Amino acid sequence: MRLTFYGGSQEVGRACMLLEEGKRNLMLDCGIKLGEKTEYPLMDDDELRRVRNVTISHAHLDHSGYLPHLYAKGAKPNIFLTKPTRDLMGVLLSDYYRIHHGEAGRRKLFSMKDVDGVLKDAKITEYKTQVNTDFKIMFHTSGHIMGSAITQIDEGNRRILFSGDICARKGRVLDPCEKNLSADTLIVESTYGGVDDIIPSYKESYQKMVAIITKTINAGGHVIIPSFAVGRAQEVLLALDDYMRSGAIPATKIYVDGMIVKAMKIYRHNAYYANDDIKRRILMSEDDPFKSPNFYRPKSKTKEDVLEEPCIIVTTSGMLTGGPVGHYLEKLGNDPKNTIIFVGYQADGTPGSKVVRGEKKIMIRDRMIELKLKVESIKLSGHADYNELIQFVHSVKGLKRVFIMHGEKMDMKEELEKKYEVIVPRVLETYSV
Ligand SMILES: [Zn+2]
Ligand SMILES: [Zn+2]
Repeated sequence: MRLTFYGGSQEVGRACMLLEEGKRNLMLDCGIKLGEKTEYPLMDDDELRRVRNVTISHAHLDHSGYLPHLYAKGAKPNIFLTKPTRDLMGVLLSDYYRIHHGEAGRRKLFSMKDVDGVLKDAKITEYKTQVNTDFKIMFHTSGHIMGSAITQIDEGNRRILFSGDICARKGRVLDPCEKNLSADTLIVESTYGGVDDIIPSYKESYQKMVAIITKTINAGGHVIIPSFAVGRAQEVLLALDDYMRSGAIPATKIYVDGMIVKAMKIYRHNAYYANDDIKRRILMSEDDPFKSPNFYRPKSKTKEDVLEEPCIIVTTSGMLTGGPVGHYLEKLGNDPKNTIIFVGYQADGTPGSKVVRGEKKIMIRDRMIELKLKVESIKLSGHADYNELIQFVHSVKGLKRVFIMHGEKMDMKEELEKKYEVIVPRVLETYSV
């Protein structure tokens, strides 16, 4: 078989690989890289139209965002994914469509019809169920967001695993990624592939968050938590709800805004894919954590009610690149009583990364905002940290060869080379596997 990397090599974004054997083929993920300028997988149109099958590891756009482009170019592959991935992709691809078409002067590369086509044709695949296409494929849980999967590909006596994005810890909503799988070849993410990328335990991080929130609320301030809509937001909201119920943080309203609201509904409707605790609460009791009485929505477009009294606001976007967070920073950013708490990865060059580095003036939606509020960061990642990545790789039985992608720091290479052949592929490189 031949494996070509069309994106996601030594970068976080536009994950896209193609596995081929003669005319048979399978694309592993089909992502874009959002930034000042959107970047796409470097596959030419003729090649795209030859793609027969695609697996999508999870709904995040860096793994799924290129699908409507594929449709627009006339490709019509079989798309295999889990049900939550399909449902969450509906929200994320629609939002991508809105952004893509909102940009003045840009050539429109796909339509809503293409988004609908992708969602309609997608073939829902359960975990642990083998599907026979050009290759045999199977999904395992990856713990990153609801529906996220490790993809297993079987061909004769060969087995390839693609980790997708993995989280090795049990979260509020999901079980950790599956371990001890077997394969001869592994393609593994490396978001936290730097030897210093060690993430404290959830407990430690949440204790810090509880202390910051309590201090801010008691001093009469607002807490703003910018978050990615899918994954971190649900984890953080359920934790806040728990801490408020137990009295660890003062009773106050938790406002939920932006696309998080839609994502919460999808999480709720897919409770079957959550961990046992959440499943039980939703399916067997009236205690629905996604509809907690502590959660509120802003009453109007101008969101005056949110500004009135001390409260917690969980809103998109996670890196301050859009979403309602800009509005809240305009209104609340210049008051030192207030606090912003970052809970996720901040890519270089984003307004979020600038604020974390200490910049006091940032541009949001073409407006310069002066920030006087306190800035805090809490490590609550949905990705395995350096040690967990190494442990995950070592847990794979029969492993000989490792490809490292979806990351910028490659310290893992040296450590893994003690035991395996390790490759850090570049974009457009092809390997025989
Ligand atoms: Zn992801
Ligand atoms: Zn990713």
